[in-house]
Amino acid sequence: MIRENLAAIHQRIEAACARKGRAPSEVTLLAVSKLQPSSMIREAYEAGQRDFGENYAQELRDKAEELAALYVRWHAIGPLQTNKAKYVAKVATSFHALDRAEIAEALGKKRSTPLDCYLEINVAGEESKSGVAPEAAPALLDAVSKIENIRVVGLMCMPPMEEPEHARPHFRALRELARKLGLPGLSMGTTDDFEIAIEEGATLVRVGRSIFGARPARH
Ligand SMILES: *Cc1c(COP(=O)(O)O)cnc(C)c1O
Repeated sequence: MIRENLAAIHQRIEAACARKGRAPSEVTLLAVSKLQPSSMIREAYEAGQRDFGENYAQELRDKAEELAALYVRWHAIGPLQTNKAKYVAKVATSFHALDRAEIAEALGKKRSTPLDCYLEINVAGEESKSGVAPEAAPALLDAVSKIENIRVVGLMCMPPMEEPEHARPHFRALRELARKLGLPGLSMGTTDDFEIAIEEGATLVRVGRSIFGARPARH
């Protein structure tokens, strides 16, 4: 089933790219495996998937250890506390939720090679969400760019969950902000709206449920 789901998503990615004259190779599919068992990651891996996203630092640590024999690229995509930065620093190739210089300091200290990071932008100014306000992005970029082993490659957002089309202006705003800041990467779009995100320039889409099915509850 996971193999078929991945194939279907790749087709949809290709179709969205075709609508905008983009090459599908410009878009990385990140399989968001949070709360799903390692067996499902193996199954996706056997179908050719290499990039996996996890939200919780200890879960990432445990899965990376269990699957150490595989050539998985791990992406940490959830908010992070400084005391857990070591787990991410150790195994991740990228971190998508950078919104404080403090976290970048904690991550950089534990790395010997650069960690690719996306600044998380709170595009709709939602109080419940992490991320910095768009206006605060230039200052954050300045601050974290000075930190050793932190390499900012792009911006990330998680717009409000409404109708998929409602996300479009937020994706567009994120692209415009990235352009102004001179950042090439755009981590945006989930199961609900990844095609719209691609139409608006996403270079990486984070898709969970339509690959792995509904998520078990978090304990
Ligand atoms: C869970 C999660 C996703 C994936 O969402 P789906 O609805 O399962 O596709 C993407 N991005 C972030 C930051 C997430 O926490």
